[in-house]
Amino acid sequence: MSQARLAPCLQLPLENKTLVNVIEKAKDWALMHGVGMRDKKHFNKDVIQIAPFILLPSPFPKTEFMKAVELQPVLNELMHKVAHDDEFLEQTLQNALQVDEFTANLYDIWLKVKNEGISQPISLGMLRSDIMLESRCPHTENQCAKHTPYCSWKQVEINSIASGFGHLGPVSREIQSYILRQLGHGDLIKNMPENRALSGLCSGIIEAFDLFGVLNAVVLFVVEEVSYNICDQRFHEFEISEKRPEIQIYRKTLNEIYEETELNDKKQLMLDGHPVAVVYYRSGYEPAQYPTAREWDARLRVERSTAIKCPSIHYQLAGTKKVQQALAGPGVLEKFMGSGTSTSRVRDIFTGLYSLDFDESGERAVEMALADAERFVLKPQREGGGNNVYGSEVRDALTRMRHSRERAAYILMERILPPLVSGYMIRPGAPVPPPLVDLVSELGIFGVIIGTKEKIYCNRQVGHMLRTKLADANEGGVAAGLGALDSPYLL
Ligand code: ADP
Ligand code: MG
Ligand code: MG
Repeated sequence: MSQARLAPCLQLPLENKTLVNVIEKAKDWALMHGVGMRDKKHFNKDVIQIAPFILLPSPFPKTEFMKAVELQPVLNELMHKVAHDDEFLEQTLQNALQVDEFTANLYDIWLKVKNEGISQPISLGMLRSDIMLESRCPHTENQCAKHTPYCSWKQVEINSIASGFGHLGPVSREIQSYILRQLGHGDLIKNMPENRALSGLCSGIIEAFDLFGVLNAVVLFVVEEVSYNICDQRFHEFEISEKRPEIQIYRKTLNEIYEETELNDKKQLMLDGHPVAVVYYRSGYEPAQYPTAREWDARLRVERSTAIKCPSIHYQLAGTKKVQQALAGPGVLEKFMGSGTSTSRVRDIFTGLYSLDFDESGERAVEMALADAERFVLKPQREGGGNNVYGSEVRDALTRMRHSRERAAYILMERILPPLVSGYMIRPGAPVPPPLVDLVSELGIFGVIIGTKEKIYCNRQVGHMLRTKLADANEGGVAAGLGALDSPYLL
């Protein structure tokens, strides 16, 4: 059975001479407009190289794109409610907490902060809902009843911490527009949806800053020891500083926060003599980013403070895979959203999601996965890519963990099979012209939500990003070197 396919926006292959010529121009455009990253292999802080990108925008059905855009505020609100439901988070995470030290550490901070009394009830959510078109379809064997090579899209996950590509998303549209113009196809640009993700996300930080309402306050970006994805982060700073020149932004690692900040008697997080209004995490989502107790202490200090956190710790917990799986359970969406049409729209975007707890349904899920491992992805409570288990390794992992409590830290998810598209992937240092290859894409929709448990101040969809990878790659992280920047071409 051949995998479904979408036609590229231009007839391919391109002639070799045209390809070499346009790639040379595009690479320079990339370097000169921040389509870049730092090199992991030969790290040099002074050098930025091109980020991998797809030469031409990848087709994406317009109705499905619009559906995703329209649904984002609903998902924002759902995440907001989940983050504020203490009992649900506790119940959902309790088994994973027994075996997953990282999630347990986050959870402990949350308990401490709650017991002490929350000093900042407002949270800033800058979310990214990641989705893929599903080419298989319940209607017929391999084609949708609509006779399209996709059925609808399905959710991969929702990110509540360090949702990147607010700059690289929109700039991917710009570079591909430049390429289309160079190829004499500027008329096609009209099919590429506008993308204001950067200003939209930054507007969230600015609104939170204004809600904090303290003169002289600053914004703090929590960053990794080394930021490879530096362009994406810096452009957020440039954008804020252009819109609001008076807002000072600091970049600090968790270790620097440990050393350089303190809580004053009003529980303000003081940095360099200034209260911190907003803390925006671009780090802190994986265990390696907390190498010692100091980083955990720093995280606790920030959570205790009056700063508005993006995300606050309960928002980070709401973004775990375990929560995603629990939301797909019977009656759970209804509990948060009632039983209206929004609820069924959200239910429709879930693939099969199964708990691996030690109960009857967990056992059934293990049996099901052992019988047909290729159909599933096994996911631990982790972020940042490279943590999931695929294909035959699902069977190996489940066989190994079958009688171990470790299993409760994972969820089982049905694998989405997106339609293929032919295209060219441009990578730093790779031979030019590149081969024409089969690709698959993952669309991320950004949302901003600000509120307390009782009141939502703002809730909107703010833009998108598209990442595309080789069809046979399991994961497509751009920073990890697997995926490439792309943008949708609406069909
Ligand atoms: P992370 O939080 O580490 O990004 P994800 O759930 O997004 O974890 O998984 C990482 C990548 O694995 C995704 O970007 C996607 O390429 C792939 N992936 C995850 N879940 C599925 C799935 N159900 N079907 C197909 N691919 C998936
Ligand atoms: Mg994630
Ligand atoms: Mg992801």
